[in-house]
Amino acid sequence: MNNAQLVELTHHNLVDIYGCLPIALVRGKGSWLEDADGNRYLDFFCGLAVTNLGHGHPRIVRAIHEQTERLMHVSNVFHTEPTARLAEKLASRFGDGRVFFGNSGAEANEAAIKLARRWGHKDGGGRFEIIATLGSFHGRTLATLSATGQEKYHQGFQPLVPGFKMAPYDDLGALERSLGENTVAVMIEPIQGEGGVVVPKLDYLRRVREFCDRNHLLMILDEIQTGIGRTGRFFAYEHVGVKPDIVTLAKALGGGLPLGAMIAKSEIASSLTPGSHGTTFGGNPVSCAAGLAIIDAIDEELALENATEVGGYIIERLRRIADTCDRVKEVRGLGMIIGVVLKHDARPVVDACLKERLLVNGTAGNVLRLLPPLNLSRQDADAGLAIIERALRTAPMPS
Ligand SMILES: *Cc1c(COP(=O)(O)O)cnc(C)c1O
Repeated sequence: MNNAQLVELTHHNLVDIYGCLPIALVRGKGSWLEDADGNRYLDFFCGLAVTNLGHGHPRIVRAIHEQTERLMHVSNVFHTEPTARLAEKLASRFGDGRVFFGNSGAEANEAAIKLARRWGHKDGGGRFEIIATLGSFHGRTLATLSATGQEKYHQGFQPLVPGFKMAPYDDLGALERSLGENTVAVMIEPIQGEGGVVVPKLDYLRRVREFCDRNHLLMILDEIQTGIGRTGRFFAYEHVGVKPDIVTLAKALGGGLPLGAMIAKSEIASSLTPGSHGTTFGGNPVSCAAGLAIIDAIDEELALENATEVGGYIIERLRRIADTCDRVKEVRGLGMIIGVVLKHDARPVVDACLKERLLVNGTAGNVLRLLPPLNLSRQDADAGLAIIERALRTAPMPS
């Protein structure tokens, strides 16, 4: 089927919630994708920060292939090697942690919320309230939606789950003022991704850590978008040398397959006891085999170093373009999560990039969000930058 046919078929049969672009993709290799009409695209989108080493990475493909032939699913009532080995890898990167596997970011955060409540119930003197931040994004289940500080996502779904308080992001005073006798945890993203690539002040995470310690609160970091090397470190929190009590991962964790994880300090994780939580597919051996492959490949191919170097180069170049481009307010980001903040809606610029076959994303209204693969070459970075520069200079202003 061609693009038009696939677009038509989708529109007639899927619940209409995604504002889908009229492109049907059929194959990908590295940083490049091909659509159903044979057009090639450079991918600065990565399936929303999922394909962190690009498409069809041989090591990930081989791991999935081999595990699929051997064993696909047995349930969490039994042990499998890929699940055990990935849990060990994540627990040791975190440092003395325990891992819960789910299938998505929302499930990882749901587990973190439930763990915080359970811990508060027993060790926290009955506390249950979680402070989250305005502009955050934590998922679409009712609890994670309730932790999401953006009203547009709440519309029509009220009543929300009680027990959440919102404070402005990157504002320690606001956290202090939100503290109540029932507060048990603070839940934040190291960089707000969906909220517009909002990078906080350098000492924010450290001061949130101190705030949590002073008040006997759990620090929950949502690294679903920033984790697995997106910022140039495996966990974004490594940039500032803090350690959260609970961290959540998903998106790139399964090397392109659905996989989410919550990692918690062992003494906190023990609040979840046999029978208290679970999911049928979570940590299935195929996704975990892919997860092991992507983490090993990131290490071996020095993808973190490349993300730092090429990501830094892109940010630098974009800032230089911004100096002479009136519609750009600010360029911000870290490693391969980059936001070009515009003075107007990002849509015309996104469309202009698509027209030149560069896949980018618009978020938070006026932010052009770039999420290139961590292993992007300098040459492909230049090719993408040339398209973005032309789009910024020539895209029509929104009416
Ligand atoms: C994408 C995202 C989620 C939700 O993950 P899903 O897999 O879509 O449920 C949660 N938090 C952050 C920071 C995200 O970027």
